[in-house]
Amino acid sequence: MSRILIIAEHDGAALNLATAKCISCAQAVGGDIDIAVLGSGIDAIAAEAAALDSVGTVFAVDAGHLAAPVAANWAPEVVALAAGYTHVLGPSTTLGRDLMPRVAALLGVNQVSDIMEVGGSHSFRRPIYAGNAIVDVQCAEDRTVVATARIASWKAAGSSGGAGVDRRAASGSAAGHTRYVGLETEGGERPDLQSAAKVVSGGRALGSEEKFNLIYGLADRLGAGVGASRAAVDAGYCPNDMQVGQTGKIISPDLYMAFGISGAIQHITGIKDAGTIVAVNKDSEAPIFEVADIGLVGDLFQVIPELERLLG
Ligand SMILES: Cc1cc2nc3c(=O)[nH]c(=O)nc-3n(C[C@H](O)[C@H](O)[C@H](O)COP(=O)(O)OP(=O)(O)OC[C@H]3O[C@@H](n4cnc5c(N)ncnc54)[C@H](O)[C@@H]3O)c2cc1C
Repeated sequence: MSRILIIAEHDGAALNLATAKCISCAQAVGGDIDIAVLGSGIDAIAAEAAALDSVGTVFAVDAGHLAAPVAANWAPEVVALAAGYTHVLGPSTTLGRDLMPRVAALLGVNQVSDIMEVGGSHSFRRPIYAGNAIVDVQCAEDRTVVATARIASWKAAGSSGGAGVDRRAASGSAAGHTRYVGLETEGGERPDLQSAAKVVSGGRALGSEEKFNLIYGLADRLGAGVGASRAAVDAGYCPNDMQVGQTGKIISPDLYMAFGISGAIQHITGIKDAGTIVAVNKDSEAPIFEVADIGLVGDLFQVIPELERLLG
């Protein structure tokens, strides 16, 4: 019987939706599911985690040096909690991509990345080559499975559970070689890109950081998160954490609006699971139209002001 430990993702105040999605992945694996919440002042977050469906116990490790999700500090704590578990699972987000390989290395196993389907307790499907091929991975049954769940592939589990919270002292202290300096984010009050229901994204066509404000303006009108193509990020129009795609974020919003994005395969990889894709591009042959549910051939510099006018 599997025993699965899920690593909770949170921002210090509330759980990220990715945690509830990991639960669905763990439910597909089957077995007992517990959650580890690491941080500082995390009582409310632990209570939120305890309310998630199928959770047996929430382990809350509260310590000052765990306040920021520094992988060098979190990984040893995860490993200390992982004894006796057959699986350690985290989300395939920026946090999970940073933390879980360290956990795998400390446990001396390989990591299974981006689980999109579960075939059995030790067999998984995951995308490779930017989602162009799907591979079946079979893990050894006598080793701990350390894995990340591709959050775009899993629905969030419900929150009608009532798990107990087990408070644990940290097993270690702050890593000497890595320290948390601060968090700089340009997103402000906008919804988090990876969990936003609506995302407005801009590409190279925006042409400058100043003109990228058009994307922020529309996103704010719609209450949407903001994304970008790699070309827009590389050109310095917007910060790197907004990049959507193979080497950026994989997202699954209900609505994805792409302005001046050609639709390169590496970008499409990041939005395959979006509910409705709207594309505006002045080239009718742009590949983005092959995946768009609604496509408009037009100049974004005319379309966005017109949309804003229609929104009133
Ligand atoms: C290993 C690897 C990983 C990569 N990872 C990613 C990734 O994670 N995410 C990602 O996005 N890319 C990624 N890329 C880059 C990717 O291949 C493309 O180069 C990139 O997505 C192109 O960005 P773009 O669509 O903004 O720019 P372009 O391809 O230059 O497209 C701009 C589009 O804007 C249209 N346009 C121009 N003016 C207007 C206007 N006024 N109104 C409307 N439309 C207009 C054009 O017709 C064109 O289709 C990766 C590449 C590699 C090799």
